[in-house]
Amino acid sequence: MRSVATGLILKRKLADFFYTCSRRRVLGCFSSSSFGTVDPRKSNGRGGEEKEVPHLPVLIVGAGPVGLILSILLTKLGVKCSVLEKSVVFSRHPQAHFINNRTMELFRKLDGLAEEIQSLEPPVDLWRRFIYCTSLSGPVFGSVDHMKPQDFDKTVSPISVAHFSQYKLMNLLLQRLEKLGFSVCSPSEIEGSIWDRKILMGHECISIHPTNEGLKVGTSYLKEGKMEEREFHCSILVGSDGARSTVRKLVDIDMKGERNLQRLVSVHFLSKDLGQYLLHERPGMLFFIFNPDAIGVLVAHDLDQGEFVLQIPYYSPQQKIEDFSFKVCEQIILKLVGWKLVDVQVLDIKPWVMHAEVAEKYVSHNNRVILVGDAAHRFPPAGGFGMNTGIQDAHNLAWKISSMLSGIASPSIIQTYEMERRPIAIYNTSLSVENFRAAMSVPAALGLDPAIANSVHRVINSSLCSIFPPSLQKFALEGIFSIGRAQLSELILNENNPLGSLRLSRLKKIFDEGKSLQLQFPAEDLGFCYKEGALVAECGEKRWESEASSVHKRDLRPYIPCAKPGCRLPHMLINALKESSAKASFSTLDLISGDKIEFLLIIAPIKGSYRLARASMMVAKEFDVPLKVCIIWPKGSSDKNVNSSEKELEPWKNFIDVEEAVKPTSKSWWELCQMSSNEVILVRPDEHIAWRTESNGIADDLLELKRVFSLMLGHGKFLL
Ligand SMILES: Cc1cc2nc3c(=O)[nH]c(=O)nc-3n(C[C@H](O)[C@H](O)[C@H](O)COP(=O)(O)OP(=O)(O)OC[C@H]3O[C@@H](n4cnc5c(N)ncnc54)[C@H](O)[C@@H]3O)c2cc1C
Repeated sequence: MRSVATGLILKRKLADFFYTCSRRRVLGCFSSSSFGTVDPRKSNGRGGEEKEVPHLPVLIVGAGPVGLILSILLTKLGVKCSVLEKSVVFSRHPQAHFINNRTMELFRKLDGLAEEIQSLEPPVDLWRRFIYCTSLSGPVFGSVDHMKPQDFDKTVSPISVAHFSQYKLMNLLLQRLEKLGFSVCSPSEIEGSIWDRKILMGHECISIHPTNEGLKVGTSYLKEGKMEEREFHCSILVGSDGARSTVRKLVDIDMKGERNLQRLVSVHFLSKDLGQYLLHERPGMLFFIFNPDAIGVLVAHDLDQGEFVLQIPYYSPQQKIEDFSFKVCEQIILKLVGWKLVDVQVLDIKPWVMHAEVAEKYVSHNNRVILVGDAAHRFPPAGGFGMNTGIQDAHNLAWKISSMLSGIASPSIIQTYEMERRPIAIYNTSLSVENFRAAMSVPAALGLDPAIANSVHRVINSSLCSIFPPSLQKFALEGIFSIGRAQLSELILNENNPLGSLRLSRLKKIFDEGKSLQLQFPAEDLGFCYKEGALVAECGEKRWESEASSVHKRDLRPYIPCAKPGCRLPHMLINALKESSAKASFSTLDLISGDKIEFLLIIAPIKGSYRLARASMMVAKEFDVPLKVCIIWPKGSSDKNVNSSEKELEPWKNFIDVEEAVKPTSKSWWELCQMSSNEVILVRPDEHIAWRTESNGIADDLLELKRVFSLMLGHGKFLL
């Protein structure tokens, strides 16, 4: 039988061989040698000229929110990277705006990003409601408040959700990247041989080829009116290039799920007058407007600034995006507003298609090509899971890439990214579809069943109708839809009309029973849990999919703190003992650094757990893994008591004593985590729990810890 240590050395050698150049360059970031000149390669460019081919450990394709977050996280963890972006400017079209609780927790670790968002976002009272009405000045069918007092009391998380437009978030991310040494370059601005920490605008990824040392990535860009090509070499390519990902197509990964759920036109416009009116009369985030002249969903991005996006359903091929000119969109806005606004300024009109699909694989080409964000999954925006899930993908991936490139983890750790994140995307897809269908229950109750509209559209699209000219098809479609919208006239929709009264009471029931579109999903937001991956699963754990399928996803479930492997570390306020800053409380989540790879072992101050902590430190050293121990003392423990930690953990120094900063009526840490104080938990750099155990139930501490670290870091199969 091969020893654990021999297995590890072998594994490390294999990783060294596999990622030789990447490691050389990662280490290079701590030396003064410039990355691009460490190992310049030459290749023939067009016209036979010799061109230098830049080599990067990580190349990210797509500078959307997910690509930018990943570049920040990797850079903080010491990994050199650059981003390719096919557009020459960043889009100002606001898409995402709801930032969920877990994403805000991650943003806390990005140099105060969460706090900055909180200082810039509109006050919560301006966006906590969804309003259903006939026009923005007409009768209201219902108004649903999506916030509860506990959303702000910081009991389950040190931060709460936010409402902040995607393009504003992008600006804050770019500022952070600039501080980390990144520069945004257009093709004509690129000079010199330093290629890392660049956001290369106007560069479209067009090809990917495996080479002996990694990947060769082809890009095209426009220079002085001519298309040019430039090649890059990289060890890892991350495709964060959005829903129509080229990277995904180039590596032949299919999507699985439902396509074309709905086509929409998204109209970005400004109107200070509308903003001021809504701010004073009916503040809200989403306005679902149904009247005989028009139907649409208005997203109030910022009432004070009067910034809105209107979503209008459209049916192709009878309706074309060209039908939605600035003038037409302005008219639709006025029909939905209900009075003549004079300051409407349409900025941009964009079509988009709603899908519910997840990539069949997230990782390919021997762990070198990885998909994140919309490139890996595309959901209906109902519930705001798209960008949030993508950002959380990046967070899951960053520490794994960093650990692998620095030799701590085996390349197979990248597989655990797919094992952990893909089931979450599958779950969030069906949750978003259920939520989208719930949103459709409102028009259905009003007599505007979208299923009927889709059937009518299918019939018009069928071969039966294809003999009619397109203009006649369009006329028929619009005629049928306007008859449908006539259901919304005041003549029908009033309490004195039996049909109208029935429909209004159906609507009331939907709102009263919470069956309309939901904004918050606490159990999924903070409570998502990895069932297998870079962790030691507990016996008897069901896999995520099978468990998920038995739950009615939209049933609003609270987040219940849990310390099982795969779960996010529960939040509790604690105080550091024996430190000058001991008085300031902080979250257990803050025990994990966002700026370096470090694992955390949480124990109670008891003999068996100290013994296990000493063994953990020893094994972590053998595995070259930074590990900190945190000893959680009950509230009221004096500094005198805690001296024992130093003695107990001798000779190890990387530990912190903290005490619970709980109210007398609150649960202790161990009760909150549903654990006994004999148990210890090992937490990963992404704040997810990798392992928990009873400290006095292990026969051989060292052997068990070697097994745990091997499994977590992908060295498992060397334990033969
Ligand atoms: C109406 C609407 C509302 C939404 N609301 C929310 C919400 O409230 N909360 C939420 O979490 N999500 C929401 N979403 C979803 C969210 O907008 C997306 O999930 C998010 O933009 C995905 O980010 P990304 O970085 O993965 O991809 P993208 O934002 O699509 O960025 C991809 C980037 O890659 C670039 N690119 C593409 N191909 C190439 C190539 N070949 N080479 C180089 N660059 C390339 C693109 O130009 C683009 O800049 C909403 C979406 C819509 C449409």
